[in-house]
Formats: sequence, C-alpha cells, structure tokens
Amino acid sequence: MKKTLLAAALGLTMSCAYAAALPNVAILATGGTIAGVASSNTATTGYTAGAVAIQTLIDAVPAVKEYANVSGEQIVKISSNNLTDDILLKLAKRCNELLKDPKINGIVITHGTDTMEETAYFLNLTVKSKKPVILVGAMRPSTAISADGPMNLLNAVRLAADPNAADRGVMIAMNDQISAGRDATKTNTNHVHTFSSHGLGYLGVIAGGKNHFLRKVEKPHTYQTEFDISKVEKLPRVDIVYTHASADDAMVKAAMAAGAKGIVHAGSGNGSVHGQTEPALAEAVKKGTTVVLSSRTGSGVVNPNMAQYHKAGFIEGQHLNPQKARILLQLALTKTADQEKIKEMFLKY
Ligand code: ASP
Repeated sequence: MKKTLLAAALGLTMSCAYAAALPNVAILATGGTIAGVASSNTATTGYTAGAVAIQTLIDAVPAVKEYANVSGEQIVKISSNNLTDDILLKLAKRCNELLKDPKINGIVITHGTDTMEETAYFLNLTVKSKKPVILVGAMRPSTAISADGPMNLLNAVRLAADPNAADRGVMIAMNDQISAGRDATKTNTNHVHTFSSHGLGYLGVIAGGKNHFLRKVEKPHTYQTEFDISKVEKLPRVDIVYTHASADDAMVKAAMAAGAKGIVHAGSGNGSVHGQTEPALAEAVKKGTTVVLSSRTGSGVVNPNMAQYHKAGFIEGQHLNPQKARILLQLALTKTADQEKIKEMFLKY
C-alpha cells in the first residue's frame, strides 16, 4: 500500500516502484557449459563451452528480473578445465570490490562445472563479506533440449537476492539443490545431478520458487578466515601427485623440478603413500616443500596414519579432497611455511 501511494506521489508506475525495491545482484560470467553452444539441440557433448556472452544468458531468463536488478560482467570466457590461479585471484578481488558497494546485495558467478568446486572453495576462504556469493553452471549446453542452465541461473539469482542466504559461506546452486562451496564436489561426468557433498548432504533445496535451508557449515568461511588476497599477485605452486599400483618417485621429482612449494598427495585409502614414493616426499619436506596427505577415495577424513608419515612431517589433509586441499595449501603458503601452523589450518578450515 505504501509503495502504491509513493509511486502515485512520484508519478511512477507501480512496476517501476517495485523494480527499484528489488535487490541488486551482480552476475560475473566465466564461461562453462551454461554458456556452451553445440551443433544441434540434441548434442550434449562435443560442444564449445563458454561461447555465449553473459547478457544473452540473462536475456534468455527474463524471470530473473522479478527477483533482482541484475547486471552482467564477463570476467573470462573459458571452459573451466582451463581455470588458472590468476583467474581465481581476479574473481576473488572483483567479488570483494563489488561486495564493498552497499548497493550490491549479492553475487552470482556463472562457471563451468569441471572446476567449480575449486573456485567455490577458494572464494569461500577469500571473499570478505556476509553477502551471498553463488556459483552456478550447467551440465547441458545452452542449445540443448532441456538445458539445465536457465533454471539453475534463475535459482542462483533468487538465492543471491535472498537475505536469508547471507553468512552461510560461498554456495553452489545446481539442480534445485544448495551446496556448500567448501564441501561440494563434481561426482558425475554427464548427469545434471552431478554435485554432491557425499555424507555431509546439501545445505538446502530450492523448491516452489523458495530457498529452504536445512543446515550450516561449521567451519569458518569468508570474512571469518585469515586469508587476504588483496595484495597477492601470484599463488604459490602446489602440485597434486596421484598414487596408483606401482607408483614411484617420478611425479614427486617432477613437481620439485617445477618448483612446487607444496605437494598434495592423493593417496589410497586413509591417505596412504606407496613405499616407492615415500622417500621422495620425505626428501621434499626436508627441502622446504609442504606435503599434505589427501585421499583418492573421494570422501572421508584422512586421519594420522603411519608413524613414519608423522616423522617425515606430512600433514593430514583432513576432510578435503585433493583439489580442495591444493587450494587451502596454496592459501596457507601465502601466509606461512611453518608446518605446525599449516597443520592447524587444515584442522580449522
Ligand atoms: N567443460 C565444462 C566446463 O567446466 C563442463 C561444464 O561446464 O559442465 O567449463
């Protein structure tokens, strides 16, 4: 009623008055399948990811304008398998810049699903705001029958515009589910239902056009972390070494030769290292490279394992999968090379 009177007094139409009252959501585009173009509407593989510009994606979902005033900004146009540390830094810096603006209520980032979990965790540790930051993508290109991108984008905007989505860390909106950027991982090469946090479950669901939150992440996030990338120009090199039958020291030596400041070992089971790899990893620690033990199993906590791992100075990667452990180790190394302090960070985040 108040808005109607105000609109009349100002000589505005009601729709204008309501539009002005909507939250402002900035959409940062990076490419991915959500912006993918295939040669036919039945093709769901073999397409060009990141081909469509952000404004075209927004225009394809006019309903977003009922929930927020949206503005689009193209950060990069890549297929996210080509994600780089520089893009991570650029995104985090741009998010922090935008979120400082009192007029911005939330951010949506369109992103390829391949490495969305890395970007989500990186931003979860480096964005300094309580405002919602939502990553969204698609598994089917924009040209496909039943493309999942438009509904995912609408859901992401609704989430970013929702004051109740604040202070929950960076989130992923895919397939009507709300996932924690810290926990979610891509689990399937093709299905639209690809993101899962395994036993931890979803933060919530989007149903009937509403966000239903069901749990919160306990670990510190966004403004609660010690990581400040505002002056970081380059992230330290951290490589992942994946174990397998007959694994040896070749990959560790290659990582060291490439100048790795950290190595995440994707071990078997509870972070186990092949006996033929272990001496090279122990040597790496002696040379000042931090070694973190993660697991290739995909879920579970890496607990203290063999006594000699402890003696060698290997750090347990806790609950993080290798690609997320790599992100935390990179950020940790921007602060310190002290193994005890890095160990604490793995317990904390
Ligand atoms: N290769 C694509 C990408 O990550 C896959 C996707 O978006 O689903 O950019």
